[in-house]
Amino acid sequence: MSSSDHDSGKAAFDPTQDFLQKLPEIRPGEQFWFACHPDVPCFNACCSDLTMPLTPYDVLRLCSGLKMSSEEFFEEFAVVGCYEDTGFPLLHLRMLDAPGRPCPFVTEQGCGVYEHRSSACRTYPLGRATRPEQGQERVQGQGQPQAQDRPQNGTKSPARSREVEDRAPLREEGLASARELPLVEQYFLVREGHCRGFEEQKSWTVESWLKDQSIEKYNRMNDRYMRLIARYKSLSAGALLSGRHATMALLCLYQQDRFAEFIRSVDLFSRLSLQGEHADRDKDAFKAEILDDSEARLLFAFDWLELVLFGASAKLLPANAPA
Ligand code: SF4
Ligand code: SF4
Repeated sequence: MSSSDHDSGKAAFDPTQDFLQKLPEIRPGEQFWFACHPDVPCFNACCSDLTMPLTPYDVLRLCSGLKMSSEEFFEEFAVVGCYEDTGFPLLHLRMLDAPGRPCPFVTEQGCGVYEHRSSACRTYPLGRATRPEQGQERVQGQGQPQAQDRPQNGTKSPARSREVEDRAPLREEGLASARELPLVEQYFLVREGHCRGFEEQKSWTVESWLKDQSIEKYNRMNDRYMRLIARYKSLSAGALLSGRHATMALLCLYQQDRFAEFIRSVDLFSRLSLQGEHADRDKDAFKAEILDDSEARLLFAFDWLELVLFGASAKLLPANAPA
């Protein structure tokens, strides 16, 4: 698709797994026929009234593309909420308060942020689900419509219950589980009645679609977040993140500019010992890279949050931790 083409971000990130399960799975190598361009009769019809999840990497890319601070982005475009089962932050794109609730980025020519569009917009008309290799539970969905349970504009995190301030048991188990959790992914075809793109003759496979939409890095980043949530779920016995931890998660995952300020203001690197693949790195050089590069900073944020929640990560320990 060219940059003037248009695709929709009808998507849900976590709560609508039932929806995905009813869709036909599309397996590696299997073909589907689809094209979206300004001449399809439904052009732009799908970029409104959406529940559009925004992952940390989506927000990073949109802020960077729009040259906005995270504060400005939150103010203008985001609805801040959380996963009801864990309390981890989850943002949604705020539709315009206008007839039909259009996406704030849709223009007559198509997507106004095409180069920076979200994972869900890139994935559509596919839906993606991932789950831990050993488990049965799907932990992520991308690219599927979510017509119900739309968060209201200005929605904050739902009331928390069973909050846990003392994380001692998690710390011990976190040490043992500070490793990459393998994920299995599945793709589904989201064939909606209004979408005439399926009448077009261009053929795709999942692999060629993902490549065309440049989504690989998005998936890698999003999977990192899903692994973190899955690990927390497996260790927390149903407890929601404490308010303090939820605030830290929002800061370090969704507000890269403010996280950089935090790193500087508390001299964070003086409190850390680099481990694993970072063990041989010069700490000052590593810190400079983290402060300079928002994508490196987001990857570091996942490790930092793991350390905060579990007391250890594969790549970070407290500076005073016994060897
Ligand atoms: S971000 Fe772009 S592709 Fe996604 S819904 Fe909005 S206008 Fe459509
Ligand atoms: S409904 Fe389908 S073909 Fe029409 S604009 Fe949206 S994605 Fe493209």
